[in-house]
Amino acid sequence: MAEKILIVEDELILQETLAYNLKHQGYEVETAGDGQTAIDKAKQIKPDLILLDIMLPGMDGFEVCRILRKDMSVPILMLTARDDEIDRVVGLEVGADDYLTKPFSMRELIARVRALLRRVRLMQNTNQDSESTHKIFHLNNLVIDETRHEVMIDDKPLDLKPKEYDLLLYLAGHRGHILSREQILKEVWGWDFFGDSRTIDVHVRWLREKIEENPAEPKRIITIRSAGYRFEG
Ligand code: CA
Repeated sequence: MAEKILIVEDELILQETLAYNLKHQGYEVETAGDGQTAIDKAKQIKPDLILLDIMLPGMDGFEVCRILRKDMSVPILMLTARDDEIDRVVGLEVGADDYLTKPFSMRELIARVRALLRRVRLMQNTNQDSESTHKIFHLNNLVIDETRHEVMIDDKPLDLKPKEYDLLLYLAGHRGHILSREQILKEVWGWDFFGDSRTIDVHVRWLREKIEENPAEPKRIITIRSAGYRFEG
């Protein structure tokens, strides 16, 4: 079954070019030219991915993203044109999954779309596995057994501190997503924690020493510059 992509772009020529190219790649495509239509269509067709331009008439892309995020976990790829927009997207205030700066090539766009959809599929598989088998994450040779509070690499149990375990579990549950330090701090440490984002960096470093083959060149917990971290599994 073809994956559905909702294109939200008010410049008609770009909207049509995007639609044409994505259809050509085998995706099912719907379009919207403004924010309200985008929200209505997203709820109606439940797309697998949304391409969301920021500068839209009326409600802007940031607002659309915020509203969609309240009850949809669909991956959102934002299309930005200006530096100050990029700062806000990279800061991930709005919960976008990735962004692309205009002008971009169709090749680049399609590569990003594919990567994002692949990431989501992998994550869904992980989540399904965990539900059917007492919450166990299998991430290559890394296994997190949520029921037993156990983490193993190549069947050897790791000795993790409680917060390292919590952090790893949170990262694994959001595999493929860019997570800001603020978000991690809030979700893993809680609102009442009097610390700052360096707390995260320190725990990530400790965790890397335990789960990365080469902690100096991490393959599992990736640092996304000026944005946060992404867990690759
Ligand atoms: Ca626009």
